[in-house]
Amino acid sequence: MKVMAQIAMVMNLDKCIGCHTCSVTCKQTWTNRPGVEYVWFNNVETRPGQGYPRRYEDQDRWRGGWELTGKGALKPRAGGRLRKLLNIFANPLMPSIQDYYEPWTYDYENLTNAPLSADIPVAPPRSLISGQPTKIRWSSNWDDNLGGDPSPDPVLAKVSEEVKLEFEQAYMFYLPRICEHCLNPSCVASCPSGAMYKRSEDGIVLVDQDKCRGWRMCVTGCPYKKVYFNHKTGKAEKCTFCYPRVEVGLPTVCSETCVGRLRYLGVLLYDADRVTEAASVTDERDLYEAQLDLFIDPDDPVAETAGLPSDWLDAARRSPIYDLIKRYRIALPLHPEYRTLPMVWYVPPLSPVVDALSTTGHDGEDAANLFAAIESLRIPIGYLAELFTAGDPEPVTAALRRLAAMRSYMRAVNLGDEPVLP
Ligand code: SF4
Ligand code: SF4
Repeated sequence: MKVMAQIAMVMNLDKCIGCHTCSVTCKQTWTNRPGVEYVWFNNVETRPGQGYPRRYEDQDRWRGGWELTGKGALKPRAGGRLRKLLNIFANPLMPSIQDYYEPWTYDYENLTNAPLSADIPVAPPRSLISGQPTKIRWSSNWDDNLGGDPSPDPVLAKVSEEVKLEFEQAYMFYLPRICEHCLNPSCVASCPSGAMYKRSEDGIVLVDQDKCRGWRMCVTGCPYKKVYFNHKTGKAEKCTFCYPRVEVGLPTVCSETCVGRLRYLGVLLYDADRVTEAASVTDERDLYEAQLDLFIDPDDPVAETAGLPSDWLDAARRSPIYDLIKRYRIALPLHPEYRTLPMVWYVPPLSPVVDALSTTGHDGEDAANLFAAIESLRIPIGYLAELFTAGDPEPVTAALRRLAAMRSYMRAVNLGDEPVLP
């Protein structure tokens, strides 16, 4: 057994209000520069929604294969053998700028310098990349509008129509995302220049700017699409887990500025000898358990004798991460089926019970009712399972039950009632 330390994050989705403070403070700190205008190391997605870049979860878009044309002929899908050959010269399997969004600004000069006239001057958005007026077709979080406005985008318009049909059942929550600093990072594996690397002391995944040659295989290779290309420098860039801050004992910028205080940072110990085995289990529904098996209790004697620096061992013991992920099993990994063994985990949102609305008029506030009716939560368990457990509803249901029990218990304590555990 080889015990290693990994810095990790757990986010409690019940607390995220979608204010984007984390995204803005991260951007001001790390990507407030030409060449990375469109880049958000931290972004907050509206769920359900297309994500950022849009449809990044549609993994068929980014990998090879052949498909049948309407006339019955075979043609290479994006990423097929032909594309793989072309990759020698270029790497076309990447999101386009329209998939992220075209960064823009208002034409403020027109606003302030327009000659006096009967009409109010308008300020059409101007692309920060081309400098030309932009015709915006998509931007992250436009999914917020799905419950209402008709969208000019045919895909969004269709979803919008479906959502409206079931408005009373509509649900929404926010999913903040950073690089997962995976235990088995495919960005590192796909980099032909050796520029992407995972630090052995804390597991942070970084890009060596001197070695990067701009092939962008990491952009293609990361299933979470969390590596970005700086079109001014010609190099790849990504979330650094704020390592200059972490190294001096400060939290990441997104954690420190999070309005909901929902980001828990800490150190996890894991068995590095079994990482490949865990990433290779046959059934993708077993990946969650396989990754859990890697984590080592920081109070286990094996951790004491592993030769880790004492401050890392202390950090692992003081950190809530092991408890949230493994002891209580209320945090789950994002898309474990990508097999990169992600290290940013999520406490799923405990939404109101739909039935409670019709019977009591309250939006599922009765915690005991909430516990009993966990299958009737407004956010479908199946949807959460697709996000967090490769479609297996059992671990999601178990996590939500524990959360409901804790809510019930704390509500009784706070009201001065006798707490009864369901
Ligand atoms: Fe690499 Fe992507 Fe994993 Fe981050 S999320 S470590 S960029 S594979
Ligand atoms: Fe959510 Fe916190 Fe980011 Fe606000 S700052 S969007 S609450 S994660």
